[in-house]
Amino acid sequence: MVSRVIPVDEFDLVIFGGTGDLARRKILPALFRRFQTGQMTKDSRIIGAARSGYSNEDYRAEMKAALEEFLEKESRPAREVKAFLERVHYVSIDATGKSGWKELKALMRPGVVQAFYFSVAPSLFGPLAERLQEWKCALKDARLVVEKPFGRDLETARQLNKTLRDYFDESQIYRIDHYLGKETVQNLMAVRFGNMLFEPLWNSQHVDHVQITVAETVGVNGRGAYYDKSGAMRDMVQNHLMQLLCLIAMEPPSRFDPDAVRDEKLKVIRALDPVPAENIARGQYVSDDAGESYLDQVGNPDSATESFIALKIQVSNWRWAGVPFYLRTGKKLKARQSEIAIVFKDAPHSIFGQDVGRHRNILTIRLQPNEGINLRVTIKEPGPGGMRLVDVPLDMTFKEALGAESDDIADAYERLIMDVIRGNQTLFMRGDEVEAAWAWTDPIIAGWKERGDRPSPYDSGSTGPEDAAILLHREGRKWREIRA
Ligand code: NAD
Repeated sequence: MVSRVIPVDEFDLVIFGGTGDLARRKILPALFRRFQTGQMTKDSRIIGAARSGYSNEDYRAEMKAALEEFLEKESRPAREVKAFLERVHYVSIDATGKSGWKELKALMRPGVVQAFYFSVAPSLFGPLAERLQEWKCALKDARLVVEKPFGRDLETARQLNKTLRDYFDESQIYRIDHYLGKETVQNLMAVRFGNMLFEPLWNSQHVDHVQITVAETVGVNGRGAYYDKSGAMRDMVQNHLMQLLCLIAMEPPSRFDPDAVRDEKLKVIRALDPVPAENIARGQYVSDDAGESYLDQVGNPDSATESFIALKIQVSNWRWAGVPFYLRTGKKLKARQSEIAIVFKDAPHSIFGQDVGRHRNILTIRLQPNEGINLRVTIKEPGPGGMRLVDVPLDMTFKEALGAESDDIADAYERLIMDVIRGNQTLFMRGDEVEAAWAWTDPIIAGWKERGDRPSPYDSGSTGPEDAAILLHREGRKWREIRA
């Protein structure tokens, strides 16, 4: 199998916040990889824009250092790095003032795709959007890329949407949720809608429940102050886990096109029931080997912010009535593991009698580690001695199935940035989707505040607080294992 790389149109991509952590760690390395494959044409340009008073040469040196830091040595031959950096430029600009805008305007070329990446604090989105129009830097169909967090509640998200739409049309706004750019997440759609096998079973008649797990081993690290104002619900559930849930629960869109897909996702979010307190378990990690607890790391001994959350969610529509969706995500857990598991119901009748035990099909879509798909099926245990049943995996990791080609699987940022240049919004969140997700999230968070709920402690390196296990146990179910 040979992967086809179709070059995108010539572009100018301006990265506001071009000297920041995200630009160095993700955006520039992603662009370099697309340059290497030939997808980024040689006349396209990347223009870093930030406050530092750099020259082009200073910025190139910084970005060279970033590529060296974040890419393996063998994957960045010096000749290719040099050729790439010739496409990189810099303007020193003040998002809230006047300096740099004339210079940026002079750099922009008509006749090529224009994209402006807002890799800055959300408080700068408004000033940037306003100045792009005021200084006539943006052409009619210029694209804006905005990073998470998109608001911290419904009110702030509405305000951000309004601010951006005062200057740009919704069709120009690309709200990044990098989970949507992951290869496996797209494979979820390919598996569901590309195979006759699954879709007929994809409903409350055949599915017992769904589990979505995003487990991290890292703590809040250097982001403590930011994280403590956010917590797992805002930082992970409202966006990433919600997007995964939507892709599993949505009706088949009529076409794989931006509005058809996003209309279906929106219907799912709007069908979510409010979540009562007894269907939520929150936790905070306590001392690990290094003696660091969540409270120490955020420097706030009274913090009631959760570093772990598990929820039981109901999607109130015809397809999913009565099927619980269990979501959990947390920091400092036993292993780094992200997966979606569709747990099917028991066969209605066992022709082998009761002694063979309980056997269930489970379809697992693994986001990490070892991206792939696993279907647990029941077979006969080999050998004589009567009919004994055993569950075995039909396991496919993309690496094994696709061989060397899988090494070239683009990372989420590569795919998403190229989609911006192509003008394809399918994998980006629409404004109304984000608002609907906040409208569902807000009352949950408000409930904790009103009742003064506090998260339960859980040990670093564990699978989360006991309450999370009880959430499933009380219904005769259990979480899938988090394997170290
Ligand atoms: P950062 O603090 O490392 O960088 C901020 C950048 O903004 C710098 O380049 C700085 O020069 C520039 N800047 C600040 N004020 C400016 C002004 N007045 N005019 C012009 N430039 C100005 O931040 P970051 O970690 O790169 O994050 C950028 C955005 O992306 C944030 O909104 C963050 O929430 C979001 N984000 C970051 C990550 C990540 O992994 N770093 C992940 C997801 C989302």
